[in-house]
Amino acid sequence: MTGEKKKKIIKTIRIDVDKCHGCRACEMICSAFHAEPKYSSNNPARARIRLIRDPLRDVYVPVYAGDYAPAECAGRDKYTIDGKEYDECAFCRSSCPSRDEFKEPDSGLPLKCDMCEGEEEPLCVKWCTVDALVLEEREEEVEEEEEQEELEIGLESLADKYGLQKMLDTIARMSKKD
Ligand code: SF4
Ligand code: SF4
Repeated sequence: MTGEKKKKIIKTIRIDVDKCHGCRACEMICSAFHAEPKYSSNNPARARIRLIRDPLRDVYVPVYAGDYAPAECAGRDKYTIDGKEYDECAFCRSSCPSRDEFKEPDSGLPLKCDMCEGEEEPLCVKWCTVDALVLEEREEEVEEEEEQEELEIGLESLADKYGLQKMLDTIARMSKKD
């Protein structure tokens, strides 16, 4: 049985690694926007975008956080593009057990980009003065049930890994306004 279809705007950020010069403004504004209260602090470790950088090899890869992955990949890739070698996982957007990126520093819970909900334009895109980050939007038809199922599976694996109480404590702390 197929569920009801609805239109959804899919937002993506197109990343041009050749334009990025590693200023980290995107990390700073993202963490400030998501601080509680908003803009009260900035800590790149809390950002939902991270810069993978190796200045000696002229490698700068801004990556924004995607879905939580409960397990590490069994096989990984190495890329050489235009003569530059990129590390394994350099382009991966997952918060996963094999690395520290995209984890809330206090609780270890995964961070995920929310496209700066409520803002007209993602702030990392706005603050990137060299256009290494560009917003793209397209419309897609999705089934409502499918969306709900995906959300439930994601929440279930988080609760399995971190425990429901830890998740509830973190949500309570993050939503506390003081
Ligand atoms: S703001 Fe732009 S140039 Fe600066 S680190 Fe982020 S993506 Fe790179
Ligand atoms: S779109 Fe917003 S939440 Fe996502 S990485 Fe950029 S600044 Fe962070």
